[in-house]
Parts: sequence; C-alpha cells; structure tokens
Amino acid sequence: MKKTTFLPILVILVLILQSCEDNTLYFEDAYVIENVNIIDPLDGILEQQTVVIKKNKIHQIYTTAEIRLSPKNTIYDGSNQYLIPGLWDAHIHFAFETLLGEYMPDLFLSNGVTSVRDTGGPIDFVLPFKKYSLENPTTAPRVMIAGPLIDGKHNVYDGSSPSFPLLSIQNSSVSVLQKQVQELIDKKVDFLKAYEMLSPEQFKLLAQMAQANNLKLTGHIPLSMDVITATNLGLNSMEHLRNLELSMAEDFEDLFSERRFALKNKNNMSGSKLRSTLHQRQRMKAIANIDSARQNQVLNTLAINKTWQIPTLELYQTFANKKYKSKSFQSYFYLIPQKIRSKWMEQINSTSDKPDQKMIQYTQWSRNMVNQMHEKKIPFMAGTDTPIGFLIPGKSLHDELIQLSLSGLSHLEALKTATYHPAKYFGLENNLGRIKEGYEADLVLLEKNPLESIKNTQSISAVIKAGHFMNRTYLDSLQAK
Ligand SMILES: [Zn+2]
Repeated sequence: MKKTTFLPILVILVLILQSCEDNTLYFEDAYVIENVNIIDPLDGILEQQTVVIKKNKIHQIYTTAEIRLSPKNTIYDGSNQYLIPGLWDAHIHFAFETLLGEYMPDLFLSNGVTSVRDTGGPIDFVLPFKKYSLENPTTAPRVMIAGPLIDGKHNVYDGSSPSFPLLSIQNSSVSVLQKQVQELIDKKVDFLKAYEMLSPEQFKLLAQMAQANNLKLTGHIPLSMDVITATNLGLNSMEHLRNLELSMAEDFEDLFSERRFALKNKNNMSGSKLRSTLHQRQRMKAIANIDSARQNQVLNTLAINKTWQIPTLELYQTFANKKYKSKSFQSYFYLIPQKIRSKWMEQINSTSDKPDQKMIQYTQWSRNMVNQMHEKKIPFMAGTDTPIGFLIPGKSLHDELIQLSLSGLSHLEALKTATYHPAKYFGLENNLGRIKEGYEADLVLLEKNPLESIKNTQSISAVIKAGHFMNRTYLDSLQAK
C-alpha cells in the first residue's frame, strides 16, 4: 500500500521540478521591455510590468514578478522607466515652411511624436506626407490630413506674403465650394477644415458634406457666424479657441452686425487684411465685456456637442512674450536646417523685443477659458501649429503639454490630450492611444515619471513606432543639421 502511493508522488515531484526548469517564456519574432512602469491614459500607472512587442502590436503584458523570461528573448531593461503611448501633435502644418516639411517627420519621431494631424496645406503638398507615412509605418509618424483650409471669397492664406503662404482654397460661391470640397473628399482627406471667411451658406454645405462622408469638420468659427450655430451645424472641433470670445460678449449682437457689414468688403481688402482688421476691432473689446450668462450658454453647448478643443496655448504664449527672442528658445534651433535657421533669425531680429500686452491679456484669457472648459468636461487635444511661431516640430508638443497642465489639467489628463484623445477623435481608440494588449505598439519610453512633472515627457530614452524600437542614439541621428 505504502509503495503504491509513494511512486506517483515521486513522479509528480519530478514533473514539478522539470516544469520549473522550463517555466521560462520565450517569444518568437518579438522583443520584451522588462520591468517597466506603464502609464495608460485611462487606467493610470501600473508598476513593474513586462511588455512583449510582436510585429507592430503590444502582444502581451505581464506583471514582472509573475513570469520568468527565457534568456533567448531580446530584452530591453525597463527598470525605473516609464512607458507611455506615442504622442500626437494634433495641429501642425507641413506646408507652412515648405523647405522644413521634409525634415519634420524625423523631428516629430525623435521627440516621441508618433502621429500628427496636419490642419491645413495644399492637398498636393500634404498628400505625399500621408502616402510616405502609410508606406513606411515603422520609420515615419502617422499623418492625418485635412488638405487646404476651406475658405470663402476673400481667403486669408492666399500666398500673398511669407506670413500668409498658400494654405487655403478660395471659394467664391457655394457651388464652387461644393465642387472643390468633393475633390478633397475624392482624394481621401482624413477630415476637413473650415476657415474664417466662409459665408454661413458655404459653412452649412461644408458641414453637410463632412457629415455625409463621415469626416470630422474642424476649424475656426467663421466671422460671419456664431459659435453655437456653427457647432450645432456640425463643427466637431475648434482650433485656437478662435473667435470664441465674439459669441460671449455682452454686445454680441452689435459686434455681429458690425462684422456682417464689414465682411461685404466694400474696400476690396485682401482676406488677411480684412480678417486682422476685424480681430483688432473686436477681440479685446469682447474679452473685456464677457457676459457670464452668454458664456455659460456657449460652454454648455460645446459640452453637450462634445466639441473638441485644440487651444494651441504655447503658440499664444510664444507670440505674446516674444519667447522666440530668448536664448533658451533659440537654443533648440540647431535642430532645424541652417537655411531655415538663418531665415528665422532674420525674421526674429526684425521684430520688437517688447512683450505684446494685448496678446498677453488674450493668452491669460485663453488659459482661463481652457480651465473652465475642462471643468465642463469639454474634451481637449494637444496641438501646437508648428512651425508657425518658430515652434520646433516635436519639441513644441511637450511645451503645449506644460501649458495644458498649467491651465488646470492633471498630468494624466494632459497626457490624455496627446494620446487617447486624438485616437478617439479619429475613431481609432480601440487600437491606438493606450497601453493594452492588442493595441498598436506606438510607444515612448521615459526616464522620469510624467505623472510627477509633465516636463518629464521630454526625458525620452526610446521611441517605438509600429513596433520598431529606436534608441536615443538613433533618435539623435534623426535630428536635422
Ligand atoms: Zn494652424
């Protein structure tokens, strides 16, 4: 009796010992980031995790203590580091500085920006950037394009000066707009962008076409309209909070009729001149006379409609305080090619040093508005407008995150604006923008915890794009000379 029970126990013991020896995990065609702290934009931090990347996906995530890795694996030590999803800059222009365009994808990647949303440029200029990114998913950031700014009869960015390069299409009538927008849709733009000089009739048709084609419509509130009408018609997102204040002013009606009259453009001004005249005449006046009931009505509508906001606070800060005049700002100019650096320095040297008091006031108002919108749960995306304002592609996204956190967003909420939120905006949230098994492996490895200080998003030790691991040395080699 004793003998018969002893033998099976021995067999089991031997089996257990054997399986202990073999109980190491090996992942073929994959690599492993061992013992890293992962920061998911929705779930927050999860410490000491081991993340397996296979092809372009996050294959598995384990608690480090629960597994043993076979030494045969390719292993990167993630100890004391932080893994976040790849970042988005949700407002960029490849076409603003055409010579810089070709350098921008590498600058984005080397700064952890693995996806961008191009918010305006001639369709034939921006399409190749999108095409290149689709053909080279592991070495170029993902590119979503609007094509040109869709503007009215007196278009602003008409190519008439270096400050107003050709970024828009002019639409002299509703039927011209219909034809031109259909061409953009046929060329497979990812979203559409309405601009400030559109007539209400043009805007309405544009919103209908966007909806019918399941495309997001972003933009500036046309000067001929108010925010509530535009967002109720289908404006899904707003850039720079542009013209928001005009709909919140006590003398909203007077400002509105003054604009409608001026927009007839009897003196035949250029679009840019007409627009800046109206901004100068009305913006600060409106901010000085905000009507709180009207503001509430506007913010409640934006909250109900979940109208995305891309406030570009760093851009405003830079212009207001002439930040580009400072040595610390210019210390990053080595990242851009010499030819553009010289051009920028010439432009910078020709502007005055004096801070722009009106712009400072406007910037403070914007930051405060972001805070109030955030409290109303209006959603945000981080965007910069680079290279406008001499903002360096990639680098400036981190500055925008700082601005958003200074405006009242927690560090995790700020991270969300550059990861989960843009993915959600494009309907990609089940595949991109989080650290979960099965998600796209667009990731950034940080040396310091961004939940302690949002500045730590800059402590990048590696970037992973569609599974492709790029270490710091490689990332440095991507930066332009
Ligand atoms: Zn822009």
